[in-house]
Amino acid sequence: MTVRSISILGATGSIGASTLDLIRRERDKWRVVALTAHSQADELARLALEFSAEIAVVADESCLPELRNALAGSQVEVAGGATALTQAAGRGVDITVAAIVGCAGLEPTMAAIEQGGTVALANKEALVSAGEVMIAAVHRSGATLLPVDSEHNAIFQCLHGHDVADVRWITLTASGGPFRDWSMAQLAAATPKQAVKHPNWDMGAKISVDSATMMNKGLELIEAFHLFPVGLERLRIIVHPQSVVHSMVEYRDGSTLAQLGPSDMRVPIASALAWPLRMDTPCAPLDLADIGELTFRATDEVRFPATRLARQAAQAGGAMPAVLNAANEVAVAAFLAGKISFVRIAAMADEVLGRYAPAAPTSLAEVMAVDARARLHAQDLLELA
Ligand code: NAD
Ligand code: MG
Repeated sequence: MTVRSISILGATGSIGASTLDLIRRERDKWRVVALTAHSQADELARLALEFSAEIAVVADESCLPELRNALAGSQVEVAGGATALTQAAGRGVDITVAAIVGCAGLEPTMAAIEQGGTVALANKEALVSAGEVMIAAVHRSGATLLPVDSEHNAIFQCLHGHDVADVRWITLTASGGPFRDWSMAQLAAATPKQAVKHPNWDMGAKISVDSATMMNKGLELIEAFHLFPVGLERLRIIVHPQSVVHSMVEYRDGSTLAQLGPSDMRVPIASALAWPLRMDTPCAPLDLADIGELTFRATDEVRFPATRLARQAAQAGGAMPAVLNAANEVAVAAFLAGKISFVRIAAMADEVLGRYAPAAPTSLAEVMAVDARARLHAQDLLELA
């Protein structure tokens, strides 16, 4: 039996926990190298001990003493700060699960890509921001980029063995989020607590808010644009409230291939971990008779303008997706902190896109600079309000 080495960036998050749950079930097949977190030193230390990690890293350096304490006397190396995080991500491993939330995950994800191993990508914001720069790094290093996002993992599976030139449509499904059927007036009064309560999926706070605004699907449209080179005009979005069909590919002969499964991220994570083979998961089998009905409907870009903004940003190309992503990250954080209303999130993203149009970045440093400036523009809007 071959033992594979793995690093998990964002080990304490929702995707991190699902990944470690799969590893725990076949402990002898994996050697855990780096586990990282933002600031949850205690939880990270607990995981590092359980999985005998080589190194544990907290991005927030002020949490390093706590991590050091918690791991004193163990074999686990400890480190803190952004540079240490990127260095740990650059340790050669067979597979890295990139599961940090937001553009904060970009530098470590790029470091993992530069290693030339397999990168299982959950951190969509990194790909949305860096776009061509990240894809070029994948080609340069020979890394294998496997999508973990359930829609993209579904599309990846449906495209396998086929020619992208034969694709007529790629259709991303969207649950529609917790506010799918809410009126404009209800949306205007939506609270953070309501927004993070997703009907089908159990996820981190940021992506849950993105699902409620549909910005998640907007970011996923841009993610698909970079992962699957069929052209923006062949990418569509359809609302599918049951989240059973995770996405579809229609070919020019009229055949549509879809991937179905339970709403459990351990399914796409397992697909990436075992690719091109398969592995066991504890997920409940799909019981279609019990589910009964699968329904579909068009998106409503009046109530949920985020997918329109994302399509515009992708069409404009260059730096605009990074601007959109940064503005959205600032707006979501402000909404979660009770500073702005729910409908202001997409409005802010729209306004920042209108006032800041930098040149297309050609390097990681330039992407980071675009991201930083776009955040300042978004902060300005917050202060004006
Ligand atoms: P989460 O908030 O549950 O976890 C995020 C992880 O990143 C944590 O380990 C946290 O410590 C770490 N982190 C946060 N900020 C950081 C920073 N500034 N520097 C370094 N580390 C930091 O998020 P999640 O729901 O697990 O999502 C992770 C990524 O996966 C996101 O990009 C999300 O869009 C994507 N994704 C998640 C799901 C899901 O079901 N949760 C599904 C598809 C895609
Ligand atoms: Mg998704």
